[in-house]
Amino acid sequence: MLIGLRDALDFAESRNCGIAAINTPTLELLLSAIRVAERYQVPLIVQHAQVHETVNAIEDIGPVMVELARRSSTGLVVHVDHGETVDYVERGFAVGFNSAMFDGSRLPYDDNVAQTRAVVEIATARGYGVEGELGVMPGREDGVESKGVADQALYTRPEDAAAFVAATGVTALACSFGTVHGLYKAVPKIDYELIRELRRAGGVPIVMHGGSGLSCDEYRSSIERGVRKINYYTYADKAGLDAARKVLDDQPDTHVFCDLTVAATKAIEANLDDLVRCLYRVV
Ligand SMILES: [Zn+2]
Repeated sequence: MLIGLRDALDFAESRNCGIAAINTPTLELLLSAIRVAERYQVPLIVQHAQVHETVNAIEDIGPVMVELARRSSTGLVVHVDHGETVDYVERGFAVGFNSAMFDGSRLPYDDNVAQTRAVVEIATARGYGVEGELGVMPGREDGVESKGVADQALYTRPEDAAAFVAATGVTALACSFGTVHGLYKAVPKIDYELIRELRRAGGVPIVMHGGSGLSCDEYRSSIERGVRKINYYTYADKAGLDAARKVLDDQPDTHVFCDLTVAATKAIEANLDDLVRCLYRVV
């Protein structure tokens, strides 16, 4: 069934867990994410990032996401990830998405506030939640731009988080505290005390971007300090790639693409199963 962003965050708050927010630009990722959520009967967020328009357009994969979420036995949020324009968020809502992130972090502060506020107004009229972003996170969801380390000078300041949430009315806040998008090229240095301060100052749940590649202890330590939504993509998709490569290496006579997608889906599902058992504290 479809549930709202607030419902999912409330669940996480009441269980002291984190909600997995999985980018699902392909059917392999989407089916894997939903199967794992149903296996453990936990709420989960499936999301489509604007940078993944090159993989599948939101008008194509979006209705599939919405339909599968509606008929699922567990609660799913269908979320626009890193919408960089108000128009893109509206394209998501038009095909049935019920939650959005507006990413104005590359805009001047006043423009980020004004455009995020505009998205909040559009979303609120529909009863949807909005995630905003303050502070620049290295890399993008396509995983190609990141240098793999975070610059501490770019970490979000708690007083700025408080002002941003008050000015925009966002439901949840993505901010910078040590994670990066894409593959890590150095050991991530997460500032746990900063997460606690951002949660307290902003008064809303904190969203972790660049959630791929951390240890379970790092996820849980972040969750304990106020992270409630964990964005995850790169390492799941890489698991699929590795599995497909293994099929080609082991069985060079493979002659149809579907043999690769079947192997990839199994590997993605196993990767997401590990993630969900960690975030939701499944014993
Ligand atoms: Zn992100």
